[in-house]
Amino acid sequence: TNKLLEVKHMCVDYMAANGTVHAVTDVSFTLERGEILGLAGESGCGKSTLAYGISRLLRPPAVTTNGEVLYYPRPRENGRRLEISSLRGAPVREDGAIDILRLSPEQLRTFRWSDLAIVFQSAMNALNPVMNIGTQIMDVLRTHRPEMGPDQRKQRAVELLKLVGIAPDRLRSYPHELSGGMRQRAMIAIALALTPELIIMDEPTTALDVVVQREILELIMDLCKEFGMTLIFITHDLSLLLELADKIIIMYAGRIAEKASSQDLYLHPRHPYSYGLLNSFPTLHGPRRKMIGIPGSPPDLRDVPSGCAFHPRCPLAFSACKSALPVLQPALAEIPGQLVTCHLYNQQYNSGRTPTTADL
Ligand code: SF4
Ligand code: MG
Repeated sequence: TNKLLEVKHMCVDYMAANGTVHAVTDVSFTLERGEILGLAGESGCGKSTLAYGISRLLRPPAVTTNGEVLYYPRPRENGRRLEISSLRGAPVREDGAIDILRLSPEQLRTFRWSDLAIVFQSAMNALNPVMNIGTQIMDVLRTHRPEMGPDQRKQRAVELLKLVGIAPDRLRSYPHELSGGMRQRAMIAIALALTPELIIMDEPTTALDVVVQREILELIMDLCKEFGMTLIFITHDLSLLLELADKIIIMYAGRIAEKASSQDLYLHPRHPYSYGLLNSFPTLHGPRRKMIGIPGSPPDLRDVPSGCAFHPRCPLAFSACKSALPVLQPALAEIPGQLVTCHLYNQQYNSGRTPTTADL
């Protein structure tokens, strides 16, 4: 395999005055090089928290209380490990992995640009308002590629802007002089500056209108294809992910509700919540689905329902759902890659036949 990232049993808590909020609980997944993973779910389900936990961007009162985030740098080439500056001095495990959660603040700073970059929802907040776009790109290069001269930096900045569809004369533009879509493109250019292995995008198109959103999405898909980028794409809009992602994790109340390939999820969602999300929007292609949506709203994480957290909203809830916590397991033996956290698929609780989409 060509594993790039392995997240194991990640837990993130918020320490609040009146108790502990479990924002992310026991999340595990593996990401191969070149893969696009989508993280979906309603707001407050823990998807951003998970991403910030992985990239060590959480600030108190959020604390990662358990888990490992194993990063596998490129394998040896011609018998020699490729020089990656950020990994110098980092604790490397027997299998070549580095636990991001154990990097020192200094190793982390370099790692975050050279190996991992993040594009946030609001480019306006992430860009420096008093610095032009060119300077912001060149600053990243100056800090992390000291061997580059000023001309090289400028050349690279122009190259990056071209890559994301911004004319080179925009180098001198300030963020407020750019449209929302252009700012998001500039953010992507900055993220690509050091050609990181992994890019995390947190709702990068949410603030944009539909047409611009589509343009940015196409840009991202092109870049992924061209550079074989490994991407974690976070959105509440599952329809985007079905187009973009190879595999999808749907989160609910801080846990994985379902994990599957995009195709399996689209063709036969197994978790009632996934089914509800998929039917909350009309599909453009393929069979027409009746729009039903999901009644109610996600739980307050300070007061998560007992058993399956989804039970108050689940049309298929039965007695065990209120008392027993479901665990992530394959829905069907024939599709080992499609995992759900739902008692319907557990013989112990539901000894009858396996539910079909008709039941959902
Ligand atoms: Fe619905 Fe029960 Fe499955 Fe939860 S465990 S999703 S409540 S059927
Ligand atoms: Mg969020």
